[in-house]
Amino acid sequence: MTINQSGWKPSSPVQGLTDTGTVTGNRALMLEEALIFEIGDSDTTGVDIEVQAASSKSALGGLLRSTPIGLPGLTEPETVRHYTRLSRQNYAIDLGLFPLGSCTMKHNPRLNEKVARLPGFADIHPLAPRETVSGALELINTLAHWLIELTGMHGVAMSPKAGAHGELCGILCIRAALEARGDPRSVVLVPESAHGTNPATAAFAGYRVENIPATEAGRVDLEALKARLGPDVAAVMITNPNTCGLFEPDMKAISDAVHAAGGFVYCDGANFNAIVGKVRPGDLGVDAMHINLHKTFSTPHGGGGPGSGPVVLSEALSPFGPLPYTARTADGVVHLIEEEQADAFSDEHFGGRLQSFGRMTAFHGQMGMFTRALAYILSHGADGLMQVAEDAVLNANYILRSLEDVLDAPFAHSGPCMHEALFSDKGFGEGISTLDLAKALIDEGFHPMTMYFPLVVHGAMLVEPTETESKAALDQFIAALRHVAERARAGDESLKTAPNYAPRRRLDETLAARKPVVAWREAVPAAGEAPTPSEVGDR
Ligand SMILES: *Cc1c(COP(=O)(O)O)cnc(C)c1O
Repeated sequence: MTINQSGWKPSSPVQGLTDTGTVTGNRALMLEEALIFEIGDSDTTGVDIEVQAASSKSALGGLLRSTPIGLPGLTEPETVRHYTRLSRQNYAIDLGLFPLGSCTMKHNPRLNEKVARLPGFADIHPLAPRETVSGALELINTLAHWLIELTGMHGVAMSPKAGAHGELCGILCIRAALEARGDPRSVVLVPESAHGTNPATAAFAGYRVENIPATEAGRVDLEALKARLGPDVAAVMITNPNTCGLFEPDMKAISDAVHAAGGFVYCDGANFNAIVGKVRPGDLGVDAMHINLHKTFSTPHGGGGPGSGPVVLSEALSPFGPLPYTARTADGVVHLIEEEQADAFSDEHFGGRLQSFGRMTAFHGQMGMFTRALAYILSHGADGLMQVAEDAVLNANYILRSLEDVLDAPFAHSGPCMHEALFSDKGFGEGISTLDLAKALIDEGFHPMTMYFPLVVHGAMLVEPTETESKAALDQFIAALRHVAERARAGDESLKTAPNYAPRRRLDETLAARKPVVAWREAVPAAGEAPTPSEVGDR
C-alpha cells in the first residue's frame, strides 16, 4: 500500500464503504485516518538531534540497540492531527446524550475540573511529607465524612480505584471479619440480574458463587434466598436499585435474614445516583457498599487515570478496612486513619485494635477524583443531591412512558422505574435484533444504550438518561429511538446494514475480542492468520 507523506491514500478507496466519490476517502469533516505506522516514515522526525558517532565509551553496558527502532516518524503537526482526527471518530458525553444503562454517563461539571486543577491539589506527590499536604488530607477527610453521612454507615475505605476494585475491597473485609471470628465460609449468593463484576469479585476472592432467582416483577426472590441461607453463606451481594432499574423493597428483610444466618450484606452501590439523599444504605442493614464516584458524583469515567470506588463499611466491618485510608466515625467525628497512626488511633478513639486486611493500592487513592467528587457534593448541597436522585428517576420514567407503546417494557406493569428504563426486543419484526436497533441509533447520532444486559430479559436494552439531560434533549432522543423502534417492529431490512453514516460499519466484534491484534505488522497476513486491525474494521 502506498501512502504519501500526509497520510492519505490517493488511489485506495476505503474498503467496505461505498465509494465516497472523493480522492481522499474523506467526507467533508468526516476524515479518514490511517494507522500511525502507515503514515509514519522513519526518515522523518519531529525533533532535531544530531546523530552521534558510535563511541567506544558507551555507558550502556553493551545494551546499545543494533537494529532500527522502527517507530513511525512524524512531524509535530502530523502527530497532533493524527490523534485529533482519531478523537473525532469517537462519541463522548460532551457531544451528546449517552444513554448507556448502569454506567451513569452524566455531564462532568466544569466547576469540578476547575477545582481539581488548583495546583495545591493537582501538583502534589503521594510521597510528599504529611506536613506539606494537610489541605489535601483535609479534603479526603471531608469527602469521607460526606460519603459516611450520605450512606449512614460507620467507616469508608477511600483507596479503591473503581467499582469492581471496591467490590473486592468489601468482600476482603467480609472475609477478614469471618476469619477473625474463626468462621470462614465458602459461598457468596448473587442474584441473576447482577452486574458481571459481582460474581467475578466473589470468585476472585475464593468463594463459590450461587445464583438467587428473580421474581416475575424483576426483584430478588426473598423466599428462595431465605431457603438457601445457612452456615456456609459468607455474604449476599445485592444491587439496589437493581440492574432492572427497580428498587428492592425487601432490602431490610433480606439484610435481617442474612445477618440472622451469620452472613454479611454487600450492596453494589453503582446505582446510588437514583437514591442519593433519599435512602441511607446503612438503614437497610448493608455492611459494605462501593460508591462509583464516576457515576453518582460525576467524575469523568477514566479521564486521566483510574476512577475511584470508595467502600462504605458498617461498624462490624470498619476495623478490617484497608490502610491507608479507612476513615472511621468516633464521637460523631470522622477520622482518617493512616498506617503509622493505626494502633494509637484504635486505642484512643475506637476502643479496640484495627485489624486491617492490608492494602488495595500503593498510595492514598485517586486524589483528582476525590477533589471533583467533593466539588460536586458541596456545589449541590443537601437539597441539590436530593434533586439529583429525583431528576434521574424522573428522566428515566419520562423515557419509559414515552416509548412503552413502541418498545416492550417487561417490568413497566410493576410501577415506575428508578434511574433507568429497561426494554426488550419483544415485538420486533422477523430477524430484527436489539443489535440492529442499536446500530441504527448510531446513524441518528446517539451512542447506543446498554444491550443484552441484564441477562434476565431477552434482547435487553437498558436506557439511563441521568439527571443532567434537559427535556429538550430527552425529547430529541425519544424521537430518534421511537423512529428506529418503529422500523424494528415493521421488520425494516435496512436496519441490518446500519450504521450507514459512521466511519466504519459493523465490526466483527467476536473476532476482535477472541483474536485481538494489538501490534502492527507490515506483512500482509497469509490466509487463516489473524487479520490486522484495519481489516477487522473493514468487515
Ligand atoms: C459500573 C458498575 C459496576 C462496576 O464499576 P466499575 O467502576 O466500572 O468497576 C458494578 N456494578 C454495577 C451495577 C455497575 O453499574
